[in-house]
Amino acid sequence: MAHKKVALACSVCGSRNYTIPAKPGRTSRLEVKKFCKHCGGYTLHRETK
Ligand SMILES: [Zn+2]
Repeated sequence: MAHKKVALACSVCGSRNYTIPAKPGRTSRLEVKKFCKHCGGYTLHRETK
């Protein structure tokens, strides 16, 4: 079985800073506050494909 991964992209600058394992059966979009080195601070990161 392949493990799906999703990328978390900064909602401010759009750079993909993190990849996390995707949970199966998940419906809602992930939104987490994480550190973005491009923005130099904590920003909202959204999952992308
Ligand atoms: Zn950023």
